Amino acid sequence: MKTMEMTCIRCPMGCRLTVAQDGDSFTVTGNTCRRGEEYGIQEMRCPMRTVTSSVRVEGGRRPVCSVKTAENVKKADIPAVLEAIRALKATAPITIGDVLCPNVAGTGVDLVATAND
Ligand code: SF4
Repeated sequence: MKTMEMTCIRCPMGCRLTVAQDGDSFTVTGNTCRRGEEYGIQEMRCPMRTVTSSVRVEGGRRPVCSVKTAENVKKADIPAVLEAIRALKATAPITIGDVLCPNVAGTGVDLVATAND
């Protein structure tokens, strides 16, 4: 049996979770709600995160524009996503929600603007 302790980040309560894995079966304790159980199991199976950063902009009011992945990506893919973001140069005008890089780093998730520029 494998056991992992973690803090649930689904809400500001920050419940301290213990997740026990026995084959394909998971037991989560310490959670106050079901979202904590889902988070704990997801963390054991395949941790996912939203990536936030900024990209260089040509012709805009500011030299950079804030961005995020439209959905969570695998934690293991974050370095590749950040590398793709570093290599990216967007062109103004940019509107919040614009897709600046579809399928960023082959994750199947788009990179979108979170500011106007
Ligand atoms: S278990 Fe529920 S209440 Fe606790 S931090 Fe997670 S989402 Fe919030």
